[in-house]
Amino acid sequence: MSKKYDYDLIAIGAGSGGLSVAERAAVYGAKCAVVESGKMGGTCVNVGCVPKKIMWFGGNLAHGLKDAVDYGFDIENRGFNWQHLVSKRDNYIAGINNWYHTYLEDSNIDEIQGFARFVDAHTLEVEGKTYTAKHIMVSPGTRPVIPDIPGAELGITSDGFFELQKQPKQVAIVGSGYIAVELAGVLKALGTDVCLYLRKEHVLRDFDAMLRESLIEEMLDQGIDIMSGTQITEVRKAEDGRLTLIDDKGRHNEGCDQLIWAIGRDPNTQGLNIDAAGIETDEQGYIMTDIFQKTNVDNIFALGDVTGRAPLTPVAIAAGRRLADRLYNNQAERHLDYKLIPTVVFSHPPIGTVGLTEHEAREKHGDSVKIYQTRFTAMYNSMTDHPVKTAMKLVCVGAQEKVIGCHIIGPGCDEMLQGFAVAIRMGATKKDFDDTVAIHPTSSEELVTMR
Ligand code: FAD
Ligand code: NDP
Repeated sequence: MSKKYDYDLIAIGAGSGGLSVAERAAVYGAKCAVVESGKMGGTCVNVGCVPKKIMWFGGNLAHGLKDAVDYGFDIENRGFNWQHLVSKRDNYIAGINNWYHTYLEDSNIDEIQGFARFVDAHTLEVEGKTYTAKHIMVSPGTRPVIPDIPGAELGITSDGFFELQKQPKQVAIVGSGYIAVELAGVLKALGTDVCLYLRKEHVLRDFDAMLRESLIEEMLDQGIDIMSGTQITEVRKAEDGRLTLIDDKGRHNEGCDQLIWAIGRDPNTQGLNIDAAGIETDEQGYIMTDIFQKTNVDNIFALGDVTGRAPLTPVAIAAGRRLADRLYNNQAERHLDYKLIPTVVFSHPPIGTVGLTEHEAREKHGDSVKIYQTRFTAMYNSMTDHPVKTAMKLVCVGAQEKVIGCHIIGPGCDEMLQGFAVAIRMGATKKDFDDTVAIHPTSSEELVTMR
């Protein structure tokens, strides 16, 4: 370690990004510390992927119980105990938080508790103490946006959703992204009435049209109300505690007992005093980096959600590990390629997607694009009263029909995509898909048998 500084590396934020870089750097012998103002594990562990997925499993079981009757089981769903699931979920997460403390200690990474602020490009101040480092990693994540309209504070965000100790009866969700559709699906499955307010006509703006349309259709089938083209301009609370959402057309949408804002997230760059280090951000406050995660300041790096690029846990982890490989293990060109990142939306049913949408492909490659798609009822669902549809699309380009996009919605596709993402990353063509022997009977076999 350089004697000039307390540490080789300090990471701001013990989320997916900060932990991954420190963990890998420490393996190479770098002296590292992580500063965290909240709970270990960051958004993903505490108010993101992990608690969300547990609630999603709960929603799946609720659907499964209905399906069980269609399969001949004589069962009755006598209710759902929200508090039971929430308390088991929270215990599970507390276990992960605790595990991290021991893990950092075992990995020789110092844990500094408190909120970090830059003093200069090599110095941070945390709770009145200063710490210096040769390299500083900025990975403080993002926070949910609450709109600037009267009564907005009457609503909660996804953070508040995970704090709910009681199941709401009627929920309004405003937004159209991952969080809006995931929470809508979970709440509806568990028995809450849900109304989704979209300011435009669609959900999941940047996704392939087939996925967006199939999901809307399925949500409507499940009984989720969807108010599209509706901008909420004011929220009021009645004496009985119920909320009224007033929209841009002057309509009073009454009667929900919980409102969830799911309209995006802002970077956590305020309060960090990044000016003291000379770090530049874009207009929205995201920290800009080059392909090596380096900011405009030579010894300061940024990764994860605060960079505004593909805000997903495995992306933050992959970027962090590669950066440590480069800084502390002589892998000079090592960096994350942000192309072809697979992602799953844990809606009901889930969506899996990687690569270009049909629209993007046609814009980029014109007439050399060929689309293969299918829509069917999976065998499992052909026995159920509610025949959930599965839809799949392969976007191919050129004479070789290289597969440049794969889009699927339907039960099981969350576990289906990872392997196909490997093939697409390796440059697989439609012929490679066709030459792969199918696994029968599965839904995924459709991806290698499409005509
Ligand atoms: P974070 O995990 O947010 O970590 C940043 C940490 O920095 C926080 O712990 C914060 O307390 C701390 N911090 C901030 N400022 C300071 C400071 N000045 N000093 C000290 N500490 C500070 N991604 C997926 O891949 N799959 C999913 O299923 C998924 N589900 C999600 C569900 C929800 C509801 C949400 C909100 C997100 C979800 N994500 C999911 C996204 C994922 O959680 C993020 O991409 C990931 O957590 C980003 O990691 P990060 O390290 O950039 O930031
Ligand atoms: P998203 O960016 O996914 O979606 C928010 C959407 O809300 C916007 O795209 C916009 O869509 C709409 N919106 C914005 N402002 C308003 C407004 N004032 N009124 C109504 N609608 C508005 O944000 P999320 O917060 O849902 O998620 C943040 C990120 O976290 C995601 O992008 C994803 O990367 C990650 N995440 C990943 C998950 C996973 O991997 N399964 C799960 C959850 C989050 P439009 O312009 O079309 O109206």
